Amino acid sequence: MTLFTNGSLMLEASVRRVLWDKDADIEETRIKSVEATADIHLSDGRCLTFAGLFIATRTVPTSLLVANSGCVVEEAPIGGQILTDATKQTSVPGIYACGDVASMPHSVSLAVGGGAMAGMLLHRSLVWPDAY
Ligand SMILES: Cc1cc2nc3c(=O)[nH]c(=O)nc-3n(C[C@H](O)[C@H](O)[C@H](O)COP(=O)(O)OP(=O)(O)OC[C@H]3O[C@@H](n4cnc5c(N)ncnc54)[C@H](O)[C@@H]3O)c2cc1C
Repeated sequence: MTLFTNGSLMLEASVRRVLWDKDADIEETRIKSVEATADIHLSDGRCLTFAGLFIATRTVPTSLLVANSGCVVEEAPIGGQILTDATKQTSVPGIYACGDVASMPHSVSLAVGGGAMAGMLLHRSLVWPDAY
């Protein structure tokens, strides 16, 4: 297994140790292009060929509601995450957040479940505001 940092992901020493213990290679040269199934062309001219790739995406909250209302956004290993409490409410009362932009790890089931929870708890806060 090879982890590509694309020249920008800063790995802590403890993370490197875990990867080395698992015999994973760490490739820090920038990726120039990906061709065929998983041929990785690096900026130094090398080409590494794999059977497949798993791409880790990063979240960037883009909604103006987040910026304009002042919801706290924390920097997590997989990007900016809107801070929520156990009820999915953000740092701004009355604004709820769920899904990738507000939780990790990123997963369809967690996003769907988080959406259901946020909707239900928002409803509860409107109907029974004193229930908290
Ligand atoms: C390559 C890849 C493979 C994956 N494989 C799996 C898998 O096998 N199993 C699994 O469980 N999960 C997988 N995931 C993760 C999964 O896709 C996400 O966890 C899930 O889609 C999150 O749902 P979401 O509704 O929070 O966000 P999203 O699905 O990202 O939906 C957010 C939506 O908001 C829109 N949007 C963004 N900004 C704005 C704005 N300012 N105004 C209006 N709309 C906006 C976006 O265009 C998008 O349509 C994978 C992700 C990737 C990238």
